[in-house]
Amino acid sequence: MTTLSGKTALVTGSTSGIGLGIALSLAKAGANLILNGFGDASKVIAEVELLNNKSGGKVGHHPADVSDPAQIADMIAYAEREFGGIDILVNNAGIQHVAPVEEFPVERWDSIIAINLSSVFHSTRLSLPGMRAKGWGRIINIASVHGQVGSVGKAAYVAAKHGVIGLTKVVGLETATTNVTCNAICPGWVLTPLVQKQIDDRIAKGIDPQQAQHDLLAEKQPSLEFVTPPQLGELVLFLCSEAGSQVRGAAWNIDGGWLAQ
Ligand code: NAD
Repeated sequence: MTTLSGKTALVTGSTSGIGLGIALSLAKAGANLILNGFGDASKVIAEVELLNNKSGGKVGHHPADVSDPAQIADMIAYAEREFGGIDILVNNAGIQHVAPVEEFPVERWDSIIAINLSSVFHSTRLSLPGMRAKGWGRIINIASVHGQVGSVGKAAYVAAKHGVIGLTKVVGLETATTNVTCNAICPGWVLTPLVQKQIDDRIAKGIDPQQAQHDLLAEKQPSLEFVTPPQLGELVLFLCSEAGSQVRGAAWNIDGGWLAQ
């Protein structure tokens, strides 16, 4: 099992869903955790503390809104001050909005690009110097299958996630001769609040809840099963391990077969 004792991980958007699952896996592996995200973080902090008590790790939460570069800078400064810097950066915070391109609200486009794409640039540029100085680091960007293919109604999300994969390749190349790696993970459907909202939209049209979930999977995900946050957490641990050290600039699918079609 990978031990990350003594390392500090920042997971953006870790008060819910995938980010929370990844944070729990990293805490189980012994890492110190900096949580981030909206909502009441106290339950999440308590959950991570329980795991960290066993491994001696430390936990903190920074409430940065990652659509604001100044707040990201404040979060990285907090990490340096309180934890001695970031070893593992997981860029996970993200939002979705579904509408045809002609009707896509301009302010939703702007916030999806800011949160799902530009935040990855800002947290990377601000944490990379510390990783280079320490001689080790992992940058893991939670992209999506939508970083590689499109779906109707998701113009901003698909554009942002394609951008994340492009940025990942460049950072992977710029760090290629160092012990810092940068990779993207591309999940298919994961049953989180972000996806539940899309199931609820189908239910609102009169479709039975079980049927709505089945239809969502059947349209895209051949396994007909959701990917789970713990499975994503295990993939993050692999990318943090010695065995993962030559995976660089990759976009790693974990999608129940979505992209094999
Ligand atoms: P979620 O809605 O459950 O969680 C999103 C998290 O991001 C929350 O903690 C929220 O507070 C935080 N967040 C949102 N806006 C923020 C902001 N401006 N500043 C700071 N934090 C913010 O969603 P999820 O499904 O767990 O998605 C997490 C990531 O995984 C996203 O990048 C998403 O695009 C990606 N993803 C999700 C799926 C899926 O099927 N759920 C599939 C592929 C990729």
